[in-house]
Amino acid sequence: MQEIRQQFIDGAWRPSNATHGLDVIDPYRETKIATLTVGSPQDVDAAVQAARRALPAWQRLSGEARGRYLDALADGLFARRDALCRSISRNGGKPLAESQLDVDDAVACYRHYATVARQLDARQGESSNATVTGVHVRRYWDPIGVVGLITPWNFPLVTAAWKIAPALTAGCSIVFKPSEVVPLPEQAIAEIAQEIGLPPGVFNLINGDGAHAGTALTQHPGIDKLSFTGSTATGESVMRAAATGVRNVSLELGGKSAIIVTEDADLAQAAGLVLNGIVANAGQMCSATSRLLVHQALAEPLYAALSRHIEALVMGDPQDDSTTLGPLVSARQRETVGRYLAQAEHEGLRAVSGTRPRQAPGQGYFVTPRLFRDVPVDSRLWREEIFGPVLCARSFASDEEAIAVANDSDFALAASVVSGSRDRAAAIAQQLVAGTVWTNMDQVAPPSLAWGGGRKSGIGRELGQEGLAAYQELKQVMTPMP
Ligand code: NAD
Repeated sequence: MQEIRQQFIDGAWRPSNATHGLDVIDPYRETKIATLTVGSPQDVDAAVQAARRALPAWQRLSGEARGRYLDALADGLFARRDALCRSISRNGGKPLAESQLDVDDAVACYRHYATVARQLDARQGESSNATVTGVHVRRYWDPIGVVGLITPWNFPLVTAAWKIAPALTAGCSIVFKPSEVVPLPEQAIAEIAQEIGLPPGVFNLINGDGAHAGTALTQHPGIDKLSFTGSTATGESVMRAAATGVRNVSLELGGKSAIIVTEDADLAQAAGLVLNGIVANAGQMCSATSRLLVHQALAEPLYAALSRHIEALVMGDPQDDSTTLGPLVSARQRETVGRYLAQAEHEGLRAVSGTRPRQAPGQGYFVTPRLFRDVPVDSRLWREEIFGPVLCARSFASDEEAIAVANDSDFALAASVVSGSRDRAAAIAQQLVAGTVWTNMDQVAPPSLAWGGGRKSGIGRELGQEGLAAYQELKQVMTPMP
């Protein structure tokens, strides 16, 4: 069994003076696979001090040089691809094929920002397009400073890369706290930082839970910006902490995304996209399309097709190649989803029959996928993020009705439209309130495009140019014209 007693501070693994430990669990075998020492406020302080010391030299470095480190981080992850996939599947419960996507996404993100970093040098000091009579204006993009980065457990390495890569590109130094639920794959980032000779203090990793390490990090006055991905409730407390000292904050929070299927859609394509949007990562995705709106003319055939697809899923050991649906990440997550299933019974929701996968293992925190139809719009299952393989469906009579019901949500992260007509899909997409709308495709977030949402889904954007801007401060230098 692995023991993670140390924190990565100032370029080296350092023993923690903390006494508080946590168990790390394999959600398929329901066994303890590691113990994690929770970083203390002193550890967080040492990490922040190291990041502050490292900041001036790191931000002076050219974009070209920072780009080389980003490429080296991508190389380091790629070199460990197989071991990292096994670690994600073992600790997080996702099937190996999905873990491979995670590692590849993380590698692609560091690679993308390596290119962006190289382009930065040419932009620094560029003349502004704005015309001010008699004044010449130059623009510089300075790093925001020392950033505190906090991530959840559902996409280890990926949500971390979405923060670490643009922050390093901008010239920020970092204190990173991964989730305590799936911390094992994330330790590799520090190992690689050490291996590639990233200057000490530029990247620091503090392990631990939210109540101890997370709170110590968000409240530390030496942090200039907090970037958080996780639940809406925690996001609110991170935002409150950021208010002290008027510190910048980015939030990537929950979702309850809609998928709209029109009657002219290709049935097989629609069934595949709807299924993927709710069973990938066992539904534990911020962008899960967990509200299905299907035109009344296609509802019955689509429900029947989904039912067949669900029956064909193979629930089993995430490390077995044939598995297509793994367990939920923890006993706690299974309890949370279980409470929603009890609520569904209480509300008398109508389940589509025949949705049991053929094979269900006798161990692991599994939840059998559920499809509820004709779910009232005021049902808790329709409105709240469940974070499990539970799909709520309704039929609609007109596109206007579908759009209105889809937009009637506290969240605005993503949405999906499946239609036989590109024009119709585009018209619906334009009227949806969401940060990303996929039409006849789903669940992709390339590093060159922005990701994020409004309402209770968060504040700001990650990835793309916007994700870099989140770690920069614009400086304008004005000089009288000669
Ligand atoms: P969570 O909010 O419980 O925890 C997220 C992280 O915050 C963990 O590292 C945790 O240790 C830390 N944390 C908890 N309390 C804290 C506190 N008071 N102060 C500082 N840090 C604290 O979320 P989770 O259960 O790990 O993840 C699931 C949630 O994440 C879902 O709601 C999901 O929608 C959201 N999510 C959003 C996106 C996105 O891009 N919008 C991506 C992935 C996950």
